[in-house]
Amino acid sequence: MNKTIAALSLGTSLLAAAVATTVIIDRRSKEPYDSPLDSLLHETPLEEAFEEELGILIYQTRDISADWRNERVFRIAQAYQRLNDNWDYFPEQFASVDALFILDRDGSVIGRADPEERDIYLYCRGYDQCANSRVLLHELAHVFSANFGPNFWNSWQSISGSGYHGLENISGPRCSAAMDDVAAVTCHGAKNVLEDVADVVLFVYDVNYTPSARYGISAENIPRIEEKLLLLHRYETFSDEELHTALRWLAQYNLRALTGRSAYPEAPVIRISPEAW
Ligand SMILES: [Zn+2]
Repeated sequence: MNKTIAALSLGTSLLAAAVATTVIIDRRSKEPYDSPLDSLLHETPLEEAFEEELGILIYQTRDISADWRNERVFRIAQAYQRLNDNWDYFPEQFASVDALFILDRDGSVIGRADPEERDIYLYCRGYDQCANSRVLLHELAHVFSANFGPNFWNSWQSISGSGYHGLENISGPRCSAAMDDVAAVTCHGAKNVLEDVADVVLFVYDVNYTPSARYGISAENIPRIEEKLLLLHRYETFSDEELHTALRWLAQYNLRALTGRSAYPEAPVIRISPEAW
């Protein structure tokens, strides 16, 4: 039996047993994505194959065509593949995810994580403008860092201090002062510890694998940023090699800041996989 037929006949037998699944369908039906039953009925063979490879459930926006479903899942599969090819501990980290939601983008949010449910939400605009590998890693960092115990979070907080800015709007010119307050590497990271951790993880990824990425940090914060990297490394967030590249990047950055040369060091070029997708 081919996959589509198998899925359809499974769907039919599930319809016969609809009474048993009513509770689940009710809970899910108000959501903008497929219910588990919808998923079985509308899922394309490509989605199924991707689900199988990842070993997780994938839910997509309701009522989009099979072409859109395929294109979006293809884009997300590319993001997944890029991380899988590069980021050393990706498989172990992705094992802490239960479900992936690929939904219509509404507003500026491109990704979201629900660490308690072990879910990641990635958003797409149109049929193919979907969250990329960097967004996926940021959200993934929220999920796996939720497993770090209180010692980790206490240590992090003692490095950062208590100057996080919460929901305050800190974009634009106030950004660097906010970052300085807690030794964050991005404005977003200055909001709270959770975003700080996720963006420092992304920083390590970028200096290893995203040559075009630029970070504007204050040289005075480098010692605290280094402490954060060492702490994350102790929790097996990235490999020795990835840590060393990031520390080297910071050392170069510091040197250039001290000598008044370019604010940005040359991006380290290493192990970038071909831009085939
Ligand atoms: Zn976040």
